[in-house]
Amino acid sequence: MIIYLDGKYVDSADAKVSVFDHGLLYGDGVFEGIRIYAGNIFRLDEHLERLEMSARAIMLDMPLTRAEFAEAVCETCRRNDLNDGYIRLVITRGIGDLGLAPWLCDKPTVFIIASKISLYPEEHYRDGLSIVTVPTRRISPDALPPTIKSLNYLNNILAKIEARQAGALEAIMLNAQGYVAECTADNIFVVSKGEILTPSSSAGALKGITRGTIFDIAKEQNIPMREADLMRYDVWCADECFLTGTGAEVIPVVKLDGRVIGTGKPGPVTAKVLEHFRRKVLVEGTRI
Ligand code: PMP
Repeated sequence: MIIYLDGKYVDSADAKVSVFDHGLLYGDGVFEGIRIYAGNIFRLDEHLERLEMSARAIMLDMPLTRAEFAEAVCETCRRNDLNDGYIRLVITRGIGDLGLAPWLCDKPTVFIIASKISLYPEEHYRDGLSIVTVPTRRISPDALPPTIKSLNYLNNILAKIEARQAGALEAIMLNAQGYVAECTADNIFVVSKGEILTPSSSAGALKGITRGTIFDIAKEQNIPMREADLMRYDVWCADECFLTGTGAEVIPVVKLDGRVIGTGKPGPVTAKVLEHFRRKVLVEGTRI
């Protein structure tokens, strides 16, 4: 496997970063998870835009232009002969001393991994997921905005551990007010009376690229859709529920906290959204 590391393409065995890198010491950095489908990098420009916003929010100067990042991502795929897979683009604060001070870090570290992805098992796309609500709350937007896709995932990891303890593959995280924020690595949607509803970023949701695609599909297909404050009750009593993420794509949820959602089977709106999503991923984005 060939890795892009700070302007060079190196073998994975040589792709090493310093123990003084603040990405490692403090989770000080930002990243993107991106998909390539049949040689098409889905919505690469949107991913790079979100990366720029994340970097701006943590006052990290982008070491490359958007065009340079795009070329590096494409070239990493080409060098790995990767037409279908998952791309991880990471920018850390770089090497500093043992204090927090980001201004003592000379230059950001950049690396790109183009690899395969392990999805949820296929039967869950067919039959739907059973998920739970976990006790760990999503960190407040006033403490660390969940809109920043930062290298700090401990909040989500704690929730992921609790999901596993409860025998679930994914879990709902509530915000400090008790409203649904998002899942540990996916955005959440319910379908209620023909309308698609999803939590806003001020409720603690990442502005997912897949989430944005669902808004576009809803508009194109004339399905009413809006952001809304959701309680667990709204999910328990919804007609349908599904999750989205770059890794997960669009996956139905049929049970939350032991309550069957709707008919207990993936619903028609979810199926329609998934069908259009599958078409879009092949055409929208950047060909390598
Ligand atoms: N929320 C969180 C916490 C995530 O880590 C992710 C990315 N896996 C998402 C939502 C979904 O975002 P995207 O569609 O951009 O992958």
